Amino acid sequence: MSFTLHGLAVSHGIAIGHAHLVSHALLEVEHYVLPGRYVDEEIVRFDEAVAEVQGELDALMAGADAHAPSELTAFIDLHQMLLADPMLIEATRDQIRERRCNAEWALVQQMEHIVEQFEQIEDAYLRERKADIVQVVERVLKVLMGHPGHPPKHGRGESLIVVAHDLSPADTIQFKQLKIGGFVTDLGGATSHTAIVARSLAIPAVVGLHHARELIREDDLLIVDGTRGVLIVDPDARVLEEYRLRRSALELERAKLKRLKKARAATLDGAEVELAANIELPGDVAQAKAVEAAGVGLYRTEFLFLNRDGMPGEEEQYEAYRSVAEAMNGRPVVIRTLDIGADKNLRGVERLEANPALGQRAIRYCLAEPQVFLAQLRAILRASHHGRVRILVPMLAHAHEIEQTLALVGQAKEQLRARGHPFDEGIEVGGMIEIPAAALALGVFLKRLDFLSIGTNDLIQYTLAIDRTDEAVAHLYDPLHPAVLRLIAQTIEAGRRAGLPVAVCGEMAGDPQLTRLLLGMGLRQFSMHPAQILEVKQEVLRSDLARLRRKVARLLATDDPGRLRQGLERLKAI
Ligand code: PEP
Ligand code: MG
Repeated sequence: MSFTLHGLAVSHGIAIGHAHLVSHALLEVEHYVLPGRYVDEEIVRFDEAVAEVQGELDALMAGADAHAPSELTAFIDLHQMLLADPMLIEATRDQIRERRCNAEWALVQQMEHIVEQFEQIEDAYLRERKADIVQVVERVLKVLMGHPGHPPKHGRGESLIVVAHDLSPADTIQFKQLKIGGFVTDLGGATSHTAIVARSLAIPAVVGLHHARELIREDDLLIVDGTRGVLIVDPDARVLEEYRLRRSALELERAKLKRLKKARAATLDGAEVELAANIELPGDVAQAKAVEAAGVGLYRTEFLFLNRDGMPGEEEQYEAYRSVAEAMNGRPVVIRTLDIGADKNLRGVERLEANPALGQRAIRYCLAEPQVFLAQLRAILRASHHGRVRILVPMLAHAHEIEQTLALVGQAKEQLRARGHPFDEGIEVGGMIEIPAAALALGVFLKRLDFLSIGTNDLIQYTLAIDRTDEAVAHLYDPLHPAVLRLIAQTIEAGRRAGLPVAVCGEMAGDPQLTRLLLGMGLRQFSMHPAQILEVKQEVLRSDLARLRRKVARLLATDDPGRLRQGLERLKAI
């Protein structure tokens, strides 16, 4: 039966495909449909993997000497039993046969099914046994992944729509490797990092759907309208056709925009505008170059720290940063220091803070862990020898944080000099303006730093006291609130007067509806996901700066949201 759910539109476009219900574990497993002739072979591959794990467990049992604690042998016993359980093994074989899917995926599907049943059990001891099922499955998966099967050469998982209760930024970043068509979640806000990653992947997404994970079944046909925030389940033929047409029209629009790639980004009256790219991983540079981004305006380095045990060391970070600096070939690269905390957590060090967004996040974490910070600073400094690198520090609010940061940059430089590593002695250090206190007391930022970058996502969150990841208050998250606009405009103006470059790197910079407003405030440096650059460039090319400035100045004087929105509409006609 066809039905529609409404949520928050977080990543534009239309995706049509089949539902793939996931939990966190599933994301690491690839899904593909096997050509019929490989199905029997796949079952043999699965059986062999199970046999190999059985062998491992037998060896463990044999190796446990007479003095081994009884818990250990009981645990091995239990795992051996689970590995022989038809609910897990026979049912996985059936899935492979019936769905013609790869063994890894069939196994995790079956695990999910069993785990769900365990969650209903009242007895706490038995409920806890689901962890054992997960461990056994992980063992088999490890073996399977060491002996890959026959994925088809084309179209792996292309039309899969991921349906989840919630996804962390760490989960979503994995979509980069998995080729997901779109995703929908029950929870989440429009500028959560999960949504930001979706936009960077240019895959349609709707979040805040409340009950999608409950109502949708595996393989249901779905339409994700990431522009309107609509999810249609099991659409009828007419609706499906309508959306196919819309999707083609959107693709055509995108293809047309490509013609702007080489055009100089300048307004009608000749003002040059810098349109740089936000990236999360070194691999994203290709996308930035494909649209001729002026540089990397925000490299969110924390993604290098997610989805792993332990932190990347100085060498690994240096390699990553250097690869970006080199690939950008002389264009500026702004590397942001670790912004961990809030919705991005290191594996194993999740803290139980009541309000993580107000807790030890970003620079607060780095100053509390100076060895981690110094290693990153050394890695960035060393990369500065291979390109035009700048350092950007998130979440600054206090003068002493700026002083401490600069002292640590000095210390990292000393350490590199002592080691004989070359770096850019004059490397510029900038600060993000994303806490209202920083925007209201800019003096020390202007005096001590080389450039500023306004993080509107957090500036809105902290100005309006809205958790950006919480869909329950998403309707109050308003980039056009007069207080937000004034803080942005003041910062741009103060930077202009002091002769300090100011950029905007939050999501507002990539919203073509807001391009004219920001230009009218005097902004000349925008940084956004590469997928949004050409659309924003189109707006820049159509704008007349002199006229915009006057209109925007008047707009900023009003506190009336209605008049503000009308005024914004009128800017489109300029
Ligand atoms: C911001 O806050 O606007 C920003 C660019 O940083 P992030 O979204 O990574 O917090
Ligand atoms: Mg931020």
